[in-house]
Amino acid sequence: MSFDKINLIRPIQKALAEEGYKNPTPIQKRAIPIILDKKDLLGCAQTGTGKTAAFALPILQHLYNEKSSVPKRRVIRALIVTPTRELAIQIGDSFKTYGKHTGLKNVVVFGGVKQKLQTDRLLEGVDILVATPGRLLDLMEQNYIILNHIKLFVLDEADRMLDMGFINDVKKIISKLPAKRQSLFFSATMPPEIIKLARTILVKPAKVEITPEQPTVEAIRQSVYHVSKPDKKNLLIHLLKDPSIESALVFTRTKHGANNVARILNRAKIHADAIHGNKSQNARQKALNNFKLKETRVLVATDIAARGIDIDELSHVINYDIPNIPETYVHRIGRTGRAGLGGAAISLCDGEERAYLKDINKMISKTIPIVEDHPYISAEPVFDKPKQSVKKTVSKKTKLKRYGSSAKSKPKRKNYGSRNVWTNRD
Ligand code: AMP
Repeated sequence: MSFDKINLIRPIQKALAEEGYKNPTPIQKRAIPIILDKKDLLGCAQTGTGKTAAFALPILQHLYNEKSSVPKRRVIRALIVTPTRELAIQIGDSFKTYGKHTGLKNVVVFGGVKQKLQTDRLLEGVDILVATPGRLLDLMEQNYIILNHIKLFVLDEADRMLDMGFINDVKKIISKLPAKRQSLFFSATMPPEIIKLARTILVKPAKVEITPEQPTVEAIRQSVYHVSKPDKKNLLIHLLKDPSIESALVFTRTKHGANNVARILNRAKIHADAIHGNKSQNARQKALNNFKLKETRVLVATDIAARGIDIDELSHVINYDIPNIPETYVHRIGRTGRAGLGGAAISLCDGEERAYLKDINKMISKTIPIVEDHPYISAEPVFDKPKQSVKKTVSKKTKLKRYGSSAKSKPKRKNYGSRNVWTNRD
């Protein structure tokens, strides 16, 4: 099915053609007709599915169609609330791209930067506002933003809002919206609290559920390297010497780890930048832009900082640390293989992380192939070996390194200690 089958207006069709979009993604196929039909929508989908265009295209169309009946001065008629600054900027960029022939204007507001630039743009008049909750409430209190004319409201990544403690802010914002409006609610997961919140926002919603994990993960070449903790940095440098790695997003568990890895890589003359919650918004944005423009080859990020980062054509995701939550692994590697493109995900696993790897294999219902042919192969034996590994045979050199020259057989299984449970801090 192509975009022609969906009843989109010319200016939008034109923008899509210029972007090279030919066919709608599953969520676009299902959600766009519902939204064009002016129905509320409960969408269970996450970033990477084409969700942004699924709501942005019909919103642009509604606003464009009613343009003539609108007062001369632009008023905010569509509001998109999203949890992070990065997501807000990406959504704003999408509206700009898809709406470039519609004459509609969008503004993005988020915290962590001075408000003057944002308020200046608001005062010029705006049709579509994309906002994070805190800054939105701030600007509403100062009367820079008035929501009386909202016709379309989108709550994006609702579950993340809950995780980040924004739920009360969201409720406050909703209380200021006109009762007569069309509402769209998106969440990657639907825990009870989110379902409760959705009920307070939506009226007789149509439901669309898209589970991108399996197909996305399927398209990604995954591999794992067993390595001792002290050798991880050397292995990373070794891997990044491969020029076929055009761009790599490297994940670490902590902010400190992200800084450290970036420093080590730069010392090895591999151009890397780090993003995490401790950096200023401007520094984060700059690092992200440089990475998107391929000026920086490697971006080292923590999970929260990388959430929602959308980089077309990202060739590699590298897990410097194995996440203890299997879903985090799926989110991380989903940064590559976007919109049907392939990609590669490499995981560096030390002895203590093997239990996490086991959980991940269980969740994705497959055993990530192990690469054994590398110079930093862990001296600790690899148990739970998959039936198919990338390289089945262990070289003589590796055997010598692993078991020593006198060892005739594999040593008995060691106890790798208790499972440390960490949280994904940022
Ligand atoms: P999203 O889930 O909105 O973050 O979108 C993920 C990525 O898919 C973005 O880079 C979009 O530019 C891209 N994308 C969205 N819809 C399409 C489409 N129909 N065809 C090709 N790429 C798309």
